Amino acid sequence: MNKNKKKLKALLAILTVIFSCLTCSTGINIFTDSDEVNLGKQFDAEIRKNFKEYPIYENKELKDYIDKNIFREVLRSPEVKKKEVYNYQIEIIKNDSILNAFAIPGGYIYLYTGLLKYLDSEAALAGVIAHEIAHVERRHATQKITTYYGISIILSIALGENPSQVTELVANLFTGLAILANSRANEDESDEYSIKYLLGTRFYPGAVKFFFEKLRDDGLVSKGSSKLATFLSTHPDPIDRISSAEKRLKMLGIEILDYKSNDNRIFKDKYKINVLSKLK
Ligand SMILES: [Zn+2]
Repeated sequence: MNKNKKKLKALLAILTVIFSCLTCSTGINIFTDSDEVNLGKQFDAEIRKNFKEYPIYENKELKDYIDKNIFREVLRSPEVKKKEVYNYQIEIIKNDSILNAFAIPGGYIYLYTGLLKYLDSEAALAGVIAHEIAHVERRHATQKITTYYGISIILSIALGENPSQVTELVANLFTGLAILANSRANEDESDEYSIKYLLGTRFYPGAVKFFFEKLRDDGLVSKGSSKLATFLSTHPDPIDRISSAEKRLKMLGIEILDYKSNDNRIFKDKYKINVLSKLK
């Protein structure tokens, strides 16, 4: 590419960013959808290499069940817009002491065995998965990278001069994942989208709050709880998340159920038979 073309491309990139800032309310993002997929592929490869921190739980039967019956079911929701664009897939990480899940750009979602053992219904797991899908669809991670590196990365990528910053980010997985840690606003937005996504499925739409209700009832929402220390320091208060979800459900005219309900959109027995029984 000659110099003038490079300059033009850089200018266009900047204009695109400025223009998209005017049209979106959630901040700038210089990454395209195919950047998201490429970045996710690189991150996923790093995660798999790092098996001490992220040991993959080899249980094909369990993974297939969750993939086919819960993950794909949420993805079928008409509100999930980029299912054909992103490389949506799940992986299970063996660590019973972590009650969490996370997503990286491009559609890669990781569930800890600790979370799977802790939840007690398919709807609750669907709520968490829908929340993670929202982080991907709303591109929270790359928005964060854009903010972190600022305008310099926009110029360097546009000029094709220094793609090393993103490579560095992936290579240094721990720094990378720390940068990608979602803000409280992102968490709140993902809770909101979890409800939207579940509306189009067989699951109770408000199930994202079930995890927090169980934590509350088990006395695990206090800051001193070691299992959740990191979770609580980086996430909005679980009690606030329950009430925000309930406000949203009321606005949508959806009845308020909690995780103890036996409503037929919650699927506790199915979870016992098809998920819990397969976890060693
Ligand atoms: Zn989240």
